[in-house]
Amino acid sequence: MFYKPDMMDAFADYDAARYVIFGVPFDATSSYRPGSRWAPDAMRKASANFETYNQYFDIDLEDLSIHDIGNFEPYSSVDDTLEELYLTIKPIVKDDKIPIMMGGEHSLTYPCVKACAEAAGEEIGFVVLDAHFDLREEYGGIRNNHACVSRHIRDDITDTYVTIGVRSGPREEWVYAMENDIKYYTSDDVREMGIKKVISEVKEYLGCRKIYLSLDMDALDPAYAPGLGTPEPFGLTDIDVREVIHALAPISVGFDVMEIAPEYDNGISALLGTKLLREFIAAHAASER
Ligand code: MN
Ligand code: MN
Repeated sequence: MFYKPDMMDAFADYDAARYVIFGVPFDATSSYRPGSRWAPDAMRKASANFETYNQYFDIDLEDLSIHDIGNFEPYSSVDDTLEELYLTIKPIVKDDKIPIMMGGEHSLTYPCVKACAEAAGEEIGFVVLDAHFDLREEYGGIRNNHACVSRHIRDDITDTYVTIGVRSGPREEWVYAMENDIKYYTSDDVREMGIKKVISEVKEYLGCRKIYLSLDMDALDPAYAPGLGTPEPFGLTDIDVREVIHALAPISVGFDVMEIAPEYDNGISALLGTKLLREFIAAHAASER
């Protein structure tokens, strides 16, 4: 089911690992530009660029127990892929490891949140960085479309849901968000309030809940991450996103970096996504020190 891993600094074997990285090369419901299936390997390649030492946290990734399982082999159908992925992640979270997924399209987040929520034994929150609400019930006739992932997580798994960086959606989604009291921060809100204020409000809203943290890379402005399935201008900065990851990694039970489509740029989106993944691990590990 998996093939050979090669993420840099993922030297631990599975049993010893605290962090378990895996790729899911699946983009079958992509609506605009497919290609996120190539992201996991592009991210592994990009990881070779970075020093193992993280000065901000005084953490050396080399000293941590990180395991890269390799790439999950998807089915052609999204429903089968999601179901099989759920069954694959379940034992990982049961073993008290932190799953870190490299997408693939955003629909893949649903089974990860579901597995993490079940293993947590308490209600967990879902915090997502995304240019889009992803609150549609179905899209293009497909319920588990990437544009519907947050809707189903809210409906099926947790009411504690926050989205940061949103700036695109049909009128109905904005109305739905208002009518359902959804906690969201647009990228303009972030710019006006400052990311630190946004983070402190989000933390207050979450209380002592653990969360699953999902990064749809299109939350970032395309100036930072142009290689995406659905790029959307006027987005978050790389530093905004890093701040959120630094602040929320310590309460996260799972994390993912989704929607990078490496064929549309010169490698920068995969580099940034990989760096943010490494920042997540460093921030999480620092909190357990
Ligand atoms: Mn999304
Ligand atoms: Mn998006």
